Amino acid sequence: STQVETREFQAEARQLLQLMVHSIYSDKDVFLRELISNASDALDKLRLESFADKDLDVDLSDLHIELVADPQERTLTIRDNGIGMSRDEVVNLIGTIAKSGTAELLGKLREAKESTDAAGVQELIGQFGIGFYSAFMVADTVTVLTRKAGETTATRWESSGEGSYTIATEDTAPQGTAVTLHLKPADAEDRLFDYTQVSTIRGIVQRYSDFISHPIRMEVERTKDEETVREVETLNSMKALWARPRGEVSDAEYHEFYKHISHDWADPLETIRLSAEGTFEYQALLFIPSRAPFDLFTRDAKHGVQLYVKRVFIMEDCASLMPEYLRFVKGVVDAQDLSLNVSREILQQDRQIQLMQRRLAKKVLATVKSWLDSDAEADAEKYRSFWSEFGTAVKEGLVTDADNRDAILGIASFESTKAEGQTTLRDYLERMPDDQEHIYYLTGRSRAVAENSPHMEAFRDKGWEVLILTDPVDEMWVDAAGEFDGKKFQSIAKGEVNVDKDADKDLEQQREEEFSGLLGWLGEQLAEQVKQVRLSARLTTSPACIVGDEHDLTPQLIRMYQAMGQ
Ligand code: ADP
Ligand code: MG
Repeated sequence: STQVETREFQAEARQLLQLMVHSIYSDKDVFLRELISNASDALDKLRLESFADKDLDVDLSDLHIELVADPQERTLTIRDNGIGMSRDEVVNLIGTIAKSGTAELLGKLREAKESTDAAGVQELIGQFGIGFYSAFMVADTVTVLTRKAGETTATRWESSGEGSYTIATEDTAPQGTAVTLHLKPADAEDRLFDYTQVSTIRGIVQRYSDFISHPIRMEVERTKDEETVREVETLNSMKALWARPRGEVSDAEYHEFYKHISHDWADPLETIRLSAEGTFEYQALLFIPSRAPFDLFTRDAKHGVQLYVKRVFIMEDCASLMPEYLRFVKGVVDAQDLSLNVSREILQQDRQIQLMQRRLAKKVLATVKSWLDSDAEADAEKYRSFWSEFGTAVKEGLVTDADNRDAILGIASFESTKAEGQTTLRDYLERMPDDQEHIYYLTGRSRAVAENSPHMEAFRDKGWEVLILTDPVDEMWVDAAGEFDGKKFQSIAKGEVNVDKDADKDLEQQREEEFSGLLGWLGEQLAEQVKQVRLSARLTTSPACIVGDEHDLTPQLIRMYQAMGQ
């Protein structure tokens, strides 16, 4: 090999490694799940890459993962013949954490750690998707030897997880990646087991990685006719969960599968299965995560549903399978009647795929609705947690998915003057007095600002509930939403709001005349700033307020457009 170079980990990566090395995570067995998950991804990537690049000359006939334990040397190697990594990729993928929002998340992590909130730390750590670093929970030193498909030289990377790593170029190595762990001494008290024992490894693979679609092989010793023979065993069943009868798959199995495809470390909030028979046959296994990813609102936020065709993995991040506003849903769709070399472009135009997307979206929305309709406190809690994590994204659907607008309004919650937390529209309507005509709302930057708005005064006096819409996205849908259950959405800051229908017309007339001088003078003074100055019945304590025309942009929308540079 050539000269060995020593490099520093990026600051964020170093901090995360520290946490891993000093093992905040109680279940250390998961390191194997993570390394197998990476190996499986690498095998899938090799297959996809060889289809995309016809010049890439690779052998796809025996894609597999191999585990090699050496009890004398106390090493465990996880080897795959997948895509491998170039030298630059090793530096960028293993030595740095490039995700946006990393610094912020690290801040939270430090806080949780200082308050010794172990559960909080584990949950946050899971959000980084730093599976590879979990190797340092069980190993003093980790060595990676990898050769990328199509390249002739290989890369050796080594680190003890303490701030720096070494990297060197090697002349030869098999294509793919071998990760070798130099194991820490077993320590039952610390739940650090002997990961050179076949029985330990077999148990972990069966618990966490049984569904992995490539064989995970290991050489084992068996006694046959009083003689010890060595033979290769495949540790996993490779069975697709969505193809097994529903009653046969345990929650734990679903959860491990979810963690593999999502790179999340926490259990999902909900598992959803769905299948269609007939002319276009498919099975879907979907998951609603328990937490929003921290890049949910970034431009490169990824979709989470993978496409399989007849059990064969075709593509990840398949945007055609889920509408944009449900991009956080993870899972797998296995279609029987598509070609194995179907492209993203074809999917986008395929009528059957569009129908499937609609069905999947409706199923997700119906699942959320079922929590609302349920009497169980656990379901109510699921709903609250769902809405606080994903509500802002789901509301985008009120703008983009006219078909499901009612369904989305049916599961939405908003702040309101009469709810301590948030209220559904159903509950709002139930509280609505007979003489109230519309669903009233006010948009604003925060609840506090909205509550202090002079627009609120008359409504407070009347006892009419006002929804307080504080998300920027609310501005985008609420005008177009029209109505819910026959009741119109009406802004209390726009146009003439008729709080008092039976107001005395004569008295109004009389007041108009009485104040006409003042109104005229104010109108002249403020001619540059306002269109009109008029008497209002909507104020009770404030002397004046500014209202928009029925079709004006609100101040929030104006700010939003300005922020977008328009
Ligand atoms: P994640 O899997 O969530 O991306 P990891 O920390 O597990 O995060 O892995 C980081 C990256 O390193 C992977 O995305 C992949 O690009 C690369 N990588 C890790 N293991 C392998 C492997 N066995 N073969 C090829 N690339 C790998
Ligand atoms: Mg990983």
